[in-house]
Amino acid sequence: MRNKLNFYDFSLPKLQIYLSDQGFKKFSATQAFEWVYQKGEKDFNNMSNLALKVREFLNDTFTFQLPTISQEHISEDGTIKLLVELKDGNLVETVLMRYNYGNVVCVTTQVGCNMGCRFCASGLLKKKRDLSAGEMLGQVLLINEILKNNNEAKLTTHVVLMGIGEPFDNFTNIIDFIDLLNNPKSLEIGARHITVSTCGLVPKIKEFADLKLQVKLAISLHAPTDEKRNQIMPINKAYPLKEVIAAVKYYEHKTNKRITYEYIMLKDFNDSLDDARDLARLIKGTNGFVNLIPYNPVDEHAFARSPRDRTYAFANALKKMGVQTTIRKEFGNDIDAACGQLRAKEEEKRGDID
Ligand code: SF4
Repeated sequence: MRNKLNFYDFSLPKLQIYLSDQGFKKFSATQAFEWVYQKGEKDFNNMSNLALKVREFLNDTFTFQLPTISQEHISEDGTIKLLVELKDGNLVETVLMRYNYGNVVCVTTQVGCNMGCRFCASGLLKKKRDLSAGEMLGQVLLINEILKNNNEAKLTTHVVLMGIGEPFDNFTNIIDFIDLLNNPKSLEIGARHITVSTCGLVPKIKEFADLKLQVKLAISLHAPTDEKRNQIMPINKAYPLKEVIAAVKYYEHKTNKRITYEYIMLKDFNDSLDDARDLARLIKGTNGFVNLIPYNPVDEHAFARSPRDRTYAFANALKKMGVQTTIRKEFGNDIDAACGQLRAKEEEKRGDID
């Protein structure tokens, strides 16, 4: 018997194409979506408005596969961090952060990451594989189950693709995932409540811009010059800052949307007032704003967290130069906070890394 497909891997447009290729009406896909995502029905036999033939086909073809929770950590501030086990035993992390405007889920897009950023725990574990759209959606559904079981008023309201992995290195699947989040027939999370973060894969930034989705884009900049960025982000050798900024301008032109520049504050590396000046100069002429991120040190890397007063001085310097700047709020400090740490520890226990 052939392996069944995971229903959660299919966005509505993908299921419509799949069903019409089999000779069924596209509308059957919409009906199936309504049953699954709006009524919570997982048994195709009970989808009474679908023709018997369609039900039989769906039954033979699809299953509903969710990842499982391997560990659940709840912080004093309500942050929930999950270590999630995929069907092949691989582990990924998912975090729920509570902002006053909603529940934000940070989703992992790959098992490990090949980008090798020198400050990052995730980059220590090379990419094993991409996550499917259903595995990304599964992370959000697991968090929603927890929130439902707690009788919380709100489920996931925002999703950021900022967990382990480089989303644009898994382009097709993240586009399906975004559709699953955003489509009124599935989770119906507003496009402006979804953020994709990239370390700067220039051709993919342009491809993404051409899709003209209304989701937000964040660029992990983390250094104001090529000389510094080359030291911490190997991707900069392939796509130096000049090309990244040109891609940002292309994106702004195509979508009319603002970019967020993410900038991790690394002590004595990129946190001086000269760095602030270089950063303001670099992004001048784009419409983006800067989000400064307090660093969570990783044992294996030499970087330290920039002191609080220096972060504030850096932010103020940027603001004086006309750059809109925020400092990211921190969550879950009492649980393993740095992205990738939970998984790295578990893999170490299992003997997967030295
Ligand atoms: S910071 Fe992001 S892109 Fe860089 S290694 Fe970590 S997960 Fe990959």
